[in-house]
Amino acid sequence: MKLQNKKALVTGGSRGIGRAIVLELAKNGCDIVFTCYSPDEAGCRCDSEASKLVESEVEAYGVKVFSIKADASSFSDAEKTLNFTLEKLGGLDILVNNAGITKDNLLLRMTEDDFDLVISTNLKSVFNYTKVAVKSMMSQRYGKIINIASVVGIIGNAGQANYVASKAGVIGFTKATAKEFASRNITVNAVAPGFISTNMTGSLNDKQKEAILAVVPLKRTGTPEDIARVVSFLASADADYLTGQVISVDGGMAM
Ligand code: NAP
Repeated sequence: MKLQNKKALVTGGSRGIGRAIVLELAKNGCDIVFTCYSPDEAGCRCDSEASKLVESEVEAYGVKVFSIKADASSFSDAEKTLNFTLEKLGGLDILVNNAGITKDNLLLRMTEDDFDLVISTNLKSVFNYTKVAVKSMMSQRYGKIINIASVVGIIGNAGQANYVASKAGVIGFTKATAKEFASRNITVNAVAPGFISTNMTGSLNDKQKEAILAVVPLKRTGTPEDIARVVSFLASADADYLTGQVISVDGGMAM
């Protein structure tokens, strides 16, 4: 129970890597608020079976859990979410910026809208939540911010210029804010996942998956839990002397 009585906010917690992070933090004793948002579906996942299931799984660990609909790219939604978190949990110790999307295409076919949407969902969201969350962390002189980047933000990838730019931006933002907040005992680190089995990678065809696995030294895809355990470590006192780092959790893809 290394996160006993800690309070966390996780963006995009209803499925995939975010869901695994919510469950891992809860397993370690943390109270949680997570956001959900399904722009492509009718209604919000906060009202869906997926989100309710996560809430009931978390409650089984005996901690508090609340979900809220919020568009990660909206600054006013971030302010609303932070107020909701402070009201429900009574404070905030850990922020995990996880929400993210892909809109892949070769640059010549990539639309301006798809570039803007990926940058605002993946990168501006990290600005939004960090800016609103850091005030209360500064006044309590304690905080752990963990940003979910990607291996491709380090090594690049054809067909993902928007996504790669957003994740490289997240890495730069992590280092800048780590330097800004260090004197207030707030650490900021990034986790860079490789090829993880979630909805995001589910649409890849077998040929694409084979090509990716060919460059993974550990010769398997990662699981959301592989990422969640590292996030939980970074959120804990075990990582108190660690800031501004990018931890690759990618089976050895980038080394
Ligand atoms: P996923 O299964 O597609 O889940 C994406 C999550 O982001 C969902 O919870 C979704 O919420 C949320 N989301 C999407 N758009 C949002 C918005 N505008 N506002 C708020 N939330 C939004 O993807 P994943 O694989 O778990 O990815 C999680 C993170 O890991 C992302 O940042 C991704 O870039 C990163 N990552 C993934 C991989 C991989 O191989 N899977 C590799 C490297 C990095 P709803 O459920 O409500 O739609």
